[in-house]
Amino acid sequence: MEAKQSETKTPKVFRGNNKSSIIQVIMNSNMLEVHTTLPEGVTVSETKYGNGLFATKKFPKDSVMFEPEYFEVEEQDFDYVVFIKDPNNGNKTYRIECNSIVNGVYIGNNIRQIFPFTGLTNHSCEANCWPISEDKEKKTFVGVATRDINAGEEITMDYFNFDWDCSDRLIENCQCNSSFCLGRVDGFKYLPIEEKKKRINLVADDILIEWVNECGWNPENPADNLTRECVIYDVLQNFCPPGIEIIENNDFNLVATKFFPKNTLVLSNKSVFVPENIIIIVRVGATNKWLDTNDLCVKRGNSLLEYFGFDSFMERSNDPNVKIVYRSDNSYEKISIKDIYPGEKLTCSNEGFPPLEIAEVLTHSKSEYNK
Ligand SMILES: [Zn+2]
Repeated sequence: MEAKQSETKTPKVFRGNNKSSIIQVIMNSNMLEVHTTLPEGVTVSETKYGNGLFATKKFPKDSVMFEPEYFEVEEQDFDYVVFIKDPNNGNKTYRIECNSIVNGVYIGNNIRQIFPFTGLTNHSCEANCWPISEDKEKKTFVGVATRDINAGEEITMDYFNFDWDCSDRLIENCQCNSSFCLGRVDGFKYLPIEEKKKRINLVADDILIEWVNECGWNPENPADNLTRECVIYDVLQNFCPPGIEIIENNDFNLVATKFFPKNTLVLSNKSVFVPENIIIIVRVGATNKWLDTNDLCVKRGNSLLEYFGFDSFMERSNDPNVKIVYRSDNSYEKISIKDIYPGEKLTCSNEGFPPLEIAEVLTHSKSEYNK
């Protein structure tokens, strides 16, 4: 990335790992200096965009390429200098002028992350390195090879996966040469829905949280939800009642973890009424899933869908082991109609849902979605 001239001064506040042996951050004549050492197999070299990272050895697909530390600052626009020692090149030290906007990542809340050497990584819409946030306490992340990378290849990352809004360091005309190239690189926020969907298991948690902050579903203003991008991010495993868990087996399924005799309560749940344009992202374990609302929610009229939270994943069957009994417009129980043993999938039929008209007279603004 090319350095840009900054108008503001150096940062006063930084948060990082003070005992780090990998990076040192010092102030020298009012200029922030960052000293770091490259890991094995990675070097810095010139590209058409300025500096970039290059592999000096082969990295097989899925291997960890590096586990660098970073630090956080509260100042937003400042220049700094990185001194990078390169053990892959006779311990030569590169002096590289950087800028916090160009080389750092804004994560919201006035916090910008500075990555001593990976901040030089260029973007590709078909990147070969995937950064996974590893330890927010120690401030490290893991860079994983998304395919085999050969010695001499440039190492690239997909900025859309960790930048909510990078229009302040806009790439107007990406030249990554990928057949998936999007041209303009301005952050996850601006991606079309289909592109967001593709990245749902690659994008950093911080970005999903920022998405909900800006585009979250507002139960108090149903009309507003219908006219804009509207999202729910639901972390489900915490809400499963005792005796039930969600397992991932190609798809998600609900499975009994204890014995439910015939005619006993398996679960009670409250559904919520959501606008039909809603995007629902659910998380189970480490997997994010873009919920197929056509399939897993029920149409209830008035442009509303009924969303069942963890119970979205109860499989439908012609020979079900539970039945659904509504107690009110949006609360229901599921009762076993057979003995159910631990490890068995819970299944229900398509019958038992209240008629459409019930939802149409509901006052939606009193929705009970309150996670
Ligand atoms: Zn591109």
